[in-house]
Amino acid sequence: MSYLLLFTITPVQDFIVQSRKLKDLFGSSDILSCMSEIGMKICKREGGEFIFPLLQEKEVSYPNRFLVEFKDKRIEEIKNIAKDIEDKLLKFLRGLNDLNHPKIYEHLENYFTFYWAVSEIESNYKSGFDKVEKLLAGAKNTRFFNQLGNGEGEKGRKCSICGERNVVIYNGKLKFPKEQYENDKPKKNKIAQKNEGLCGVCYVKRRYGDVKKGKFDSTADIALMHIFEKVKRKEFRLLNKNSQLFFRENLTEKYLKEQGLLGNKKLEDFLKEWEKFNKLLKEKNFKQTSYYAVIMFDGDSMGEWLSGKNLNADIKEFHRFMSKRLSLYSMEAKEIVKFPKGEAVYAGGDDFLGFVNLNYLFEVLKDLREKWDEIVNKLLQENFELKKDFTFSAGVVVAHYKTPLAYVLGKVREAEKTAKEFNNKRKNAITFTVLKRSGEIRKASIGFEKLDNLVGVQKRLKNYSDSFISKLEKEFSLMNEVDWYMVEVELRRLLKKSEIFDDEIVEKLDNLFENFNDFSHLLNFIKFLNREVQ
Ligand SMILES: [Zn+2]
Repeated sequence: MSYLLLFTITPVQDFIVQSRKLKDLFGSSDILSCMSEIGMKICKREGGEFIFPLLQEKEVSYPNRFLVEFKDKRIEEIKNIAKDIEDKLLKFLRGLNDLNHPKIYEHLENYFTFYWAVSEIESNYKSGFDKVEKLLAGAKNTRFFNQLGNGEGEKGRKCSICGERNVVIYNGKLKFPKEQYENDKPKKNKIAQKNEGLCGVCYVKRRYGDVKKGKFDSTADIALMHIFEKVKRKEFRLLNKNSQLFFRENLTEKYLKEQGLLGNKKLEDFLKEWEKFNKLLKEKNFKQTSYYAVIMFDGDSMGEWLSGKNLNADIKEFHRFMSKRLSLYSMEAKEIVKFPKGEAVYAGGDDFLGFVNLNYLFEVLKDLREKWDEIVNKLLQENFELKKDFTFSAGVVVAHYKTPLAYVLGKVREAEKTAKEFNNKRKNAITFTVLKRSGEIRKASIGFEKLDNLVGVQKRLKNYSDSFISKLEKEFSLMNEVDWYMVEVELRRLLKKSEIFDDEIVEKLDNLFENFNDFSHLLNFIKFLNREVQ
């Protein structure tokens, strides 16, 4: 008898998105990956044959969901394997509580839920697969929620990051209700920022991120990567204490004191070093930007693909093949997004989340796309009879390094969703959202096949007056129906006044036009990029 075990660890999205610092994010991604690894190792030891994910090499993020086939085992034995995984995961969570604070473990234990289901492969693999998915969905619907504080929730000061659970670890002068002092016994610890309070869950993310990373602490690092590629940051000993100091606006007595960076130095010492840094930038013609980008994507219509709707082939073979290609792709994606171009936070299965330096944004997007085609889609097409291409849709957010990270991550999730909906859910699209420091938000979508053209337009418009963009917007933004022909006439008139005009640029712009709203936001995005990048 053959059985399938499907195991998932939740929550994933909320756990990752609720991050204040880059290291919280790395920490959460690593914790999830470690948990999956623990579960997968047990399945392997018990002789399970992996379907998702297939390749289990080091350095790849493990997805929070795995599917394993067991042959020659009774159903009770497999259920015991799943229970064993649950036990080991709880043990792992207990181990994260290095401060031995009972509240930390209570928060963690209540936060994570493990769902699993087992189904028999009776006549064929497909019916077994459909059944195990259905069972898992059912298990999620009938979940019994453990509630903190006997169902009334916790009372007291809430965590500064998630706002959901009580503060357990804090720094600075936070006051707590008497009851919380007595029940939760909040502890002072320098891992929290000044006047920040962390719950058990947010504490372990910060702690894990601290241990695991350290290379890139902040979004300021990402924004500066193209400069650190060529300028030795270590030569600026004082500024290098904290990447934010490379931005002039942070060099104030107040900031240095708050961050505990002053030591026996004076503000003037920092300013002197900054002048030296700034002079070097000018000499070498390096442009400093305060912005960076986040990319999030996942495979289009995964449910359809897994159900076998788009193919005429043995579905198990297809699952295993696809799973292997996706694992290989994840490794490649991590290679593409690394210093000085950026840093991948998560790359596993068809999922990706990474931070990118603005100067490399288009290059990275193109590389991620081309490799997907080469490693995943092309080989699937060659080996199976597929009814369409296997694509992905991406959300890209460009944000200021000081914009709260949780907000930026929420926006990138939103952008990815918009990309999937764009053009009547045609998929294979990118949505760009620009969050300007002023609060202005620009959001534009295009099909992936137009990315090259977008890059062409960006390069073409570089160093030319972009005033035609705001003029165009002024004229058309209040009108209901604007088609390309109306825009074209006006564009030609406006462009003729500048040196950019020729038929080629008009053709290129025509290609980018889907509707006026996306078109004008896209042009504004290009305008913004051209001001910010090298
Ligand atoms: Zn929290």
